Amino acid sequence: MKVLVIGGGGREHAIVWALLKSSQVTEVLCAPGNGGIASIARCIPCDAGNLHELVNIVTIEQPALTVIGPEVPLSLGLVDELTKRGHRVFGPTQAAAQLESSKAFAKEFMQRHDLPTAEYGICTTLDQVREELPRFSVPIVVKASGLAAGKGVVICETHLQAETAAAEMFSGSLLGTTEEAVVLEEFLTGEELSFFALCDGTHAIEIASAQDHKRVGEGDTGLNTGGMGAYSTDGIATPAMRTWLLHNVAQKVVDGMRSEGEPFKGILFCGIMMSPRGPMVLEFNTRFGDPETEAILLRLETDILDLFNASIDGTANELSINLRPGASVCVIAASGGYPGKYVSGKPISGLPTGNDQPAEDVVIFHSGTALKDGRIVTAGGRVLAISAAAPDLQTALDKAYAELAKISFEGMQFRRDIGHRALRK
Ligand code: ATP
Repeated sequence: MKVLVIGGGGREHAIVWALLKSSQVTEVLCAPGNGGIASIARCIPCDAGNLHELVNIVTIEQPALTVIGPEVPLSLGLVDELTKRGHRVFGPTQAAAQLESSKAFAKEFMQRHDLPTAEYGICTTLDQVREELPRFSVPIVVKASGLAAGKGVVICETHLQAETAAAEMFSGSLLGTTEEAVVLEEFLTGEELSFFALCDGTHAIEIASAQDHKRVGEGDTGLNTGGMGAYSTDGIATPAMRTWLLHNVAQKVVDGMRSEGEPFKGILFCGIMMSPRGPMVLEFNTRFGDPETEAILLRLETDILDLFNASIDGTANELSINLRPGASVCVIAASGGYPGKYVSGKPISGLPTGNDQPAEDVVIFHSGTALKDGRIVTAGGRVLAISAAAPDLQTALDKAYAELAKISFEGMQFRRDIGHRALRK
């Protein structure tokens, strides 16, 4: 069976890697892919934000299944376009993907269906922001409603700061694109958890939980990034909490979307804050998270193709998802300056070649790399996702950091404290 994966980051490298383990898969293609994916799959250069180009690739290649990694093609309606043309595709429709692509939609949906989330106000003008602000005590969270690649959330210490952040979102000076709506939100405290469920329009089943490290600096300091590392362990959430999240968040979302005539199929990522008032939904993503996927897929024992098929065919309730016991981690090696300005094109040394393979259960996924004159060079903010699995978290971390110690490129930065919260417990 020929499978096409859309995207070109560490998440897609991990998906391609997992698909290649399936005995049902004969060929994997990736569009556009990256320098690392090119070593295991045929990559097709394209702009993953251009619907027309992506539809053309599927029309030419005729894969038996297309799997969409990133949020942008989902928000543009790639699933709808491909389904309309008779192709088999994994992921939510444009309407269902609004759970991620519009924070205003997600908040109102959560209110309609009684999901636990922070108090909020949706504003489409600066005057509305000024009217709403007095309802909120500081700090206040100001969020761009649309997709912002992890950069659309500003935590403000004063009302004036919140007004300025909202003004910058409306004008486009903060994110480069003008926002039609901003969401003001009550500030929540607690530990964050990423809960992943597989959904088939009717059922939600648990895949795994993980914890991301969004800040660039050790000790969770500095600017927010796309994620500097992640880990997944058996004990990350208690069985009772996992059952609660499945029934009171993921299944409720699936039921709610179905009742509104927009069934949700695909991966539902629930970003949860374990607040003193109980678990609260911070956000939904409607696809695999990055870098959590690079950690989680190392633990997945079930054939990933079975997950995709169960979601499309509405049979997720018949599937049992097995994870290898223990822990897995992912440590991101990023370009110097990231998440601000950085320079690409730096040669990467120390990557395994030929017989010199990484240790067992260690995989180096490429996030932002390219092949230039036969050499792998940096081509993004996040460059490599060094992932490892082991019976316990400390061993998994030791393995990942030992591999990372062999790798270097000019300006390389990484966090040395991935998993620190779990290790402290
Ligand atoms: P990403 O693109 O990384 O998924 P995002 O831009 O969609 O992120 P959110 O996940 O909603 O935005 O928020 C990003 C981070 O901001 C959260 O992981 C959390 O650390 C912080 N945050 C968001 N909402 C709140 C809140 N209400 N209270 C406290 N912190 C918050």
